[in-house]
Amino acid sequence: MGKKEEKKGKKKEKKEKQPAASYPHSCTDCGVVNCGKRNSKYPDFCLTAKLSEEEIAKVVKLYTDEKENRKIAIASAEVEGEFYGKYTRVEEIMAVARRIGAKKIGIATCAGLIEESRIFARILKLNGFDVYGAACKVGSVDKVTIGIEEKYTCRTGPVMCNPILQAKLLNKAKTDFNVVVGLCVGHDSLFYKYSKALCTTLITKDRVLAHNPAGALYQSRAYYKRLLEKEIWEE
Ligand code: SF4
Repeated sequence: MGKKEEKKGKKKEKKEKQPAASYPHSCTDCGVVNCGKRNSKYPDFCLTAKLSEEEIAKVVKLYTDEKENRKIAIASAEVEGEFYGKYTRVEEIMAVARRIGAKKIGIATCAGLIEESRIFARILKLNGFDVYGAACKVGSVDKVTIGIEEKYTCRTGPVMCNPILQAKLLNKAKTDFNVVVGLCVGHDSLFYKYSKALCTTLITKDRVLAHNPAGALYQSRAYYKRLLEKEIWEE
């Protein structure tokens, strides 16, 4: 192969973009995670090393002295410890719910994932829970009513997602533990904000990756390398 062809055949390799250095460093800059492993040294900027005994003790008290915090922290650690690598998240949710005494489970579902929520509700009922679900389009309010521009309704339809109403309906139904099934980014935030019951998430929506957002990170040096090459705003 001549030099010319060789050059032609060579793919233009895009370089990973380096983010501007951000200070102070934090756990996402840490290569040792000694707080969990306790097998090396804490880095200079370590958040654990910079905490005083009093600061840590104050937070520990929130687990030991606050009844609800204690119950949930212990239940989730027990479920993690007992069923590590054995239980799916569906099972873990039920195991935690049972341990914290939650009987009535609220489901805040995306309307697009209603089938998944139907199955989940069935499983919950089979395991002795009461279920009350509210879909994101509940109330059937037009997007334009709250100032969403009409151009944003073309692909997704005129009816707005209504996470605040979802939360209020589950609050009214006095659910003990609410489970989010595929609410959009931001809509989920509003649901968490208005839900009176504790929340957990069964499905984190990712329309591109079959609801597996971690896939983008696992493939960020392969199929999704664009994520490390340029800012999305550059497109
Ligand atoms: S607390 Fe310290 S050791 Fe743990 S991840 Fe953060 S910087 Fe690393």
